[in-house]
Amino acid sequence: METQGLDREAELDEILEYCNTLRQSPPPADDALPDGFTGTLGHFPVYFPEEVAHAAGLLPVNLLGGGNKLELKHADAHMGSFICSICRSTTEMGLNGQLKGLKGFITHPICDAAKHLAGIWSRNIPDQLAQILYLPQNPNTPGAIRFVAAEYQRLRGELERRSGREATDLKLRASIQAYNRNRALVRELYALRRDEPWKVSCTESYLLLRARTRIPCEAHNDLLARALDGIRARHRPAQDKPRVVFVGGFCEQPPLEMLEAIDDNCYVVDDDLLIGLRWLTADVPGTGDPIWALAESFVQRCAASPVQHDERKTKEAYLMEMIASSKAEAAIVTAAKFCEPGLDEQVAWSKHLDQVGVQYLVLEFEEKMTSFEQMAMQLETFAESLLFATA
Ligand code: SF4
Repeated sequence: METQGLDREAELDEILEYCNTLRQSPPPADDALPDGFTGTLGHFPVYFPEEVAHAAGLLPVNLLGGGNKLELKHADAHMGSFICSICRSTTEMGLNGQLKGLKGFITHPICDAAKHLAGIWSRNIPDQLAQILYLPQNPNTPGAIRFVAAEYQRLRGELERRSGREATDLKLRASIQAYNRNRALVRELYALRRDEPWKVSCTESYLLLRARTRIPCEAHNDLLARALDGIRARHRPAQDKPRVVFVGGFCEQPPLEMLEAIDDNCYVVDDDLLIGLRWLTADVPGTGDPIWALAESFVQRCAASPVQHDERKTKEAYLMEMIASSKAEAAIVTAAKFCEPGLDEQVAWSKHLDQVGVQYLVLEFEEKMTSFEQMAMQLETFAESLLFATA
């Protein structure tokens, strides 16, 4: 039994290493794709209905910027200096040829910067499909589900034409089933982090989830199931660290070194990292019209985020719900530099946390950051102040 546990832990280390390699890898080339896929489709954060691309035989590849190693040579000629880093580096990767294998690129009107990416793409990379998928910023209107379903239907037609494969209802239902399994596994991962945060760090959980941006959902399901076994088998003692939630990582990606610095000082028991990959919070119904089922799930059972204005989920209320349900004692409230939706939310969150007396730390980040010493010191001081307050 003991040996089995050690084997699972060793396998987990290998899986995490593989996930980190995927994080730094370009989308797979067409001739390296598994059976069933004819190409790759890039999509920008936050949320994209990957099931539709998956059913049309296109591997959905979430484009999450260029990290802190990419040198910008072309993008600056196409956008102002006040635009956030993820928009600039994603454009750079399109212009410098790193994404030349994609069949298309889909963005969303989550903010002015993201909305304009499709225009830059279509003018400069004309052989790829470049589209905006319109999702309702306000899902509280009576026609919201019908509107989303019409957009998904339009997308389905576009992707079928690009891939040369029909995304039949049958294929869509099979894709929904694969993604439902993924949603359940991701919920397990987050439950483990809430219950035994010493067994899996925020950085590790992030790497595990991010792997889905480069491999098919089915392969990711297998990877997650094996990783969860390894996490459960881990023998790691609990440390004296405060429990915190992390918010502000919904679109531009915080550098890995930043997440590691947070892990060094705190247990992150919930977060909004890669929220678009776990946007639908419950299974999508597997019967009836699959496009309607996806649209209805988007409107009725989805996560909260600063890029959606849903009066059923106020920004203050959903942060407080994250804190309460994860039994966190404090929050790390971040925003990406130049991110208007993120900075708006940061102000509202800070004001509310002051009012209700919950401790928090405000941090600003940029994907291209390379120096973390000062942030590490801030985090250490914050964690110590929380521990002393409860001692
Ligand atoms: S990081 Fe903020 S400003 Fe930049 S694309 Fe995302 S939501 Fe828009």
